[in-house]
Amino acid sequence: MKLSQSFTKTTKTAPADEVSQSAKYLLRAGYIYKEMAGVYDYLPLGMRTLEKIIQIIREEMNAIGGEELRMTSLQPKDVWEASNRWDDKVMDVWFKTKLNAGGELGLAPTHEEPLTHVMKSYISSYKDLPIYVYQFQTKFRNELRAKSGIMRTREFMMKDLYSFSKNREEHNEFYEKCADSYIKIFNRLGIGDSTFRTFASGGSFSKFSDEFQTICDAGEDIIYLDRERGIAVNEEVYTDDVLNDLGLDKSKLEQHKAAEVGNIFTLGYKYSDALDLCYNDEDGKRQKVFMGSYGIGPSRVMGVIAEKLSDDKGLVWPEEIAPYKYYVVGIGEQGEAEAAKLHDMAPEDIILDDRKSARTGEKFADADLMGIPYRVVISDKTLAENKVEIKNRQTGETKLLTLTEFASKIS
Ligand code: ATP
Ligand code: MG
Repeated sequence: MKLSQSFTKTTKTAPADEVSQSAKYLLRAGYIYKEMAGVYDYLPLGMRTLEKIIQIIREEMNAIGGEELRMTSLQPKDVWEASNRWDDKVMDVWFKTKLNAGGELGLAPTHEEPLTHVMKSYISSYKDLPIYVYQFQTKFRNELRAKSGIMRTREFMMKDLYSFSKNREEHNEFYEKCADSYIKIFNRLGIGDSTFRTFASGGSFSKFSDEFQTICDAGEDIIYLDRERGIAVNEEVYTDDVLNDLGLDKSKLEQHKAAEVGNIFTLGYKYSDALDLCYNDEDGKRQKVFMGSYGIGPSRVMGVIAEKLSDDKGLVWPEEIAPYKYYVVGIGEQGEAEAAKLHDMAPEDIILDDRKSARTGEKFADADLMGIPYRVVISDKTLAENKVEIKNRQTGETKLLTLTEFASKIS
């Protein structure tokens, strides 16, 4: 990517009403654009990072047998009436609208009901089960407070997987597999060491749900963490009874603010009952399908990572999700020519700062603000030794590599 040809520009200030550090940096660095409170566009840099997060999640969902689909954002009223969740008092985050042709519809806050309805066309026998389907899809929620940038928005990206199993045993097996897969995902995303499986309130079919909480000052939840065991308890279920139940020692628990990045839930028969989703078992008897749901918010994850890993100069992305790996600056005529050559060898990995309008100091500041993992400088001075200077954004460490060494790294 050549910065001279990109329409985005970095800015010195963020909108005055923006309070979270991650949102300020993401706005200033040109990753996102604020349409209104709780509603953001993803600009080219932001979109690349979001897509990389999505791709990691996708690979891990495929690895546990997930099949990807994409459902609609416009949802029919009747499937929601069947589960009694069309009512604004039951589901308080609805965005609804009217059809010109008559009737009402809803903008997807989640997909349990519509997907359960779809499955009625495809599940009839025990041979059809289990089924694991997931999507990356836009959700709409009329959140009362949207103040943490992309961590809580009114339109956001969700990965939602739903499991359809023959019984609780089959469900439990997948549930644990998915929990393990979430740990892998958060490791790959660079927040594994601060993200913990957390017991939270369940529903009528399980005592607890499992949240995945990342320790983060901008988070909205309080968790109690047993660091040795690597598990936590959400404040909402933090009672002596629950601690006993889980064998947790109160005196060993650390209290932290945290952000929920993922969430898995045993739904049981809640929706298969409401929408009458059944299968015939081996004896030809009609049975209800046992369901689960498994969410991750890629856009919230992006906000949490931006929040946690940034420093006083700007964003600091882990390599796996940075929009580009290298930020290349050429200084002097020969340096600029060499920089352009390197860019052309790996345009998918390199931002070439070839702006005529910016001074070198400004380019360096923008490289830091954007959080690109490696800043690469080629100047007359480094070229005199046939070298490039590489600076690690996270550690600040600087190294000299020969041009050939760097070229082989990127090709
Ligand atoms: P919260 O408790 O934070 O409101 P939730 O329990 O309603 O979230 P789910 O319905 O389980 O969330 O959604 C799955 C995931 O989607 C969450 O774990 C989170 O990562 C993400 N998410 C939920 N609401 C939002 C939002 N308003 N903005 C961005 N991401 C969200
Ligand atoms: Mg929650």
